[in-house]
Amino acid sequence: MKKYIWGFVFVCIVNTTIAKPTRLIDLNLAGKHPITDIYEWVSLQAIKYANIKKKALIKFLGFEDTREWEEFRSNTKRPNRFHPDWYKKEVMPAWLKNCIYNVLTYYKVQTCLNIIDIITKHPSSSSGQVKRIIVRTENFGTIEFRASQICSGVSHIDYNNHYNCGEVTMKNNTHIIFLDPIKIQKLKLTNETIEAWIGHELGHVIHDDNFNEYLALEFYEQETGKNNLESLPLFIDYVKACEVAADIVGTFGNPKWIKGWITFFKKLDAKVEFEKNSTHPTLKERLEYLQEIYKAF
Ligand SMILES: [Zn+2]
Repeated sequence: MKKYIWGFVFVCIVNTTIAKPTRLIDLNLAGKHPITDIYEWVSLQAIKYANIKKKALIKFLGFEDTREWEEFRSNTKRPNRFHPDWYKKEVMPAWLKNCIYNVLTYYKVQTCLNIIDIITKHPSSSSGQVKRIIVRTENFGTIEFRASQICSGVSHIDYNNHYNCGEVTMKNNTHIIFLDPIKIQKLKLTNETIEAWIGHELGHVIHDDNFNEYLALEFYEQETGKNNLESLPLFIDYVKACEVAADIVGTFGNPKWIKGWITFFKKLDAKVEFEKNSTHPTLKERLEYLQEIYKAF
């Protein structure tokens, strides 16, 4: 009899330790109504997830609720978080320009951003070379695409661990998406992956992640006199959730881009440097939810 009891205890322990895989985000695809679009559904789940983390963070900062935070947000001027000294300007190669245009002309991107016009800026001296692409939108202000190399030696940016591309907020309701053509080329990315990456940065623009992050950091420093918010789990969790949302919302429901992102993360598997970045989900976590979405299409 004793044998059976120990056997039962053993099964219980194994069940509780092995049976439940911990997932970063539950997409609850089983709960989706058949007529609901998969992209709309998973985006909603990702936004819900990011909002939970955001609520926890703003509560920690002493805000009553999201409404109070939004009020504070609307009363704060958008800062200039783009520091020209940190980025070395590059001419935008044709392949990068084409990828940006492919993203901007995708129907779901057009509907989401509500694009007014796209202006291509050329350097005054050369012929046909592109300097930057400026997109004026009805819904998210101005979005500028720049080809720049992140300068090594910038104190807070770890050059080797950096993701090479990113979104920063700038005054006058402008977002800058900087893309590093040299590093992108070194990684030998396919067009689908580059486009997925651009989509991911647009995902950050849509939720104004950079501005929210800035506000939380500034507010915390003003209130407490400390500048360690970036290292606190509540903040890291929020930033991580924003990355998940940018991954999912930024696919714009384009299976080619989801596949492109999956291919990239699979290729990176051996490159530990990406795993070190604690504000981003691990490659395993990213592959988990992206593969789940890809299969659902
Ligand atoms: Zn990101």
